[in-house]
Amino acid sequence: MTIVVPDADHLRRLAERGASDLEGAAALEILTWADEQFGTTWCVTSSMEDSVVPHLASRVRAGVDVVFLDTGYHFPETIGTRDAVAATLPVTVKTITPRQTVAEQDASFGARLYERNPDQCCALRKVTPLRNALKDYTAWASGLRRDEADGRRHIGVIEWDARRSMVKINPIAAWTQQDVDSYIAENGVIVNTLLFDGYGSVGCAPCTRRIKPGEDLRAGRWAGMSKTECGIHD
Ligand code: SF4
Repeated sequence: MTIVVPDADHLRRLAERGASDLEGAAALEILTWADEQFGTTWCVTSSMEDSVVPHLASRVRAGVDVVFLDTGYHFPETIGTRDAVAATLPVTVKTITPRQTVAEQDASFGARLYERNPDQCCALRKVTPLRNALKDYTAWASGLRRDEADGRRHIGVIEWDARRSMVKINPIAAWTQQDVDSYIAENGVIVNTLLFDGYGSVGCAPCTRRIKPGEDLRAGRWAGMSKTECGIHD
């Protein structure tokens, strides 16, 4: 196996070639490519909405790092999903936290920053901690899918993450919800129980509501605000 030196130009070209070669490939083939290219320097990030991508990744590399961002605002069910994944899948769950606790943030910026300035709250509790955690890696895999929302229609299976100078892997970008449901059923994949309780997507509790029939899966995230993404995937 050849492990690439993490030079930005080289990585960008590798991402561009991977995007073209792997469009239409199966998720396991995409992750196998990632493992051949990046060895131990790739990871999975998971919101613990389900564990489809950690499960897929563990089939390619046992012990693969799964980075979970604990914002301090998660539903108990999400923390339970994280713990169940750590206990049962052959992966290494790495929980990362923001620099400040929720109480410390409230003291610095006032309570319920998520209501007044959700972009700042996400920057403090998600974007910055994840950026720091990803410095340890060359590539990261996420569970983004094109059918989740209009803003995700054009994501590639492999992308160049210019902001972080990393390769981004979206192995289930082309999957439908039916594909996800089938994989979960066939493989006994751990799922956040909130998905059976009316939630289409699971984020921080103050910024997530159940969805109504016919709504996009992510319609319950920051409902009533213009915000649709936390900034991690920009
Ligand atoms: Fe804050 Fe809401 Fe963003 Fe969570 S999703 S970090 S609570 S604004």
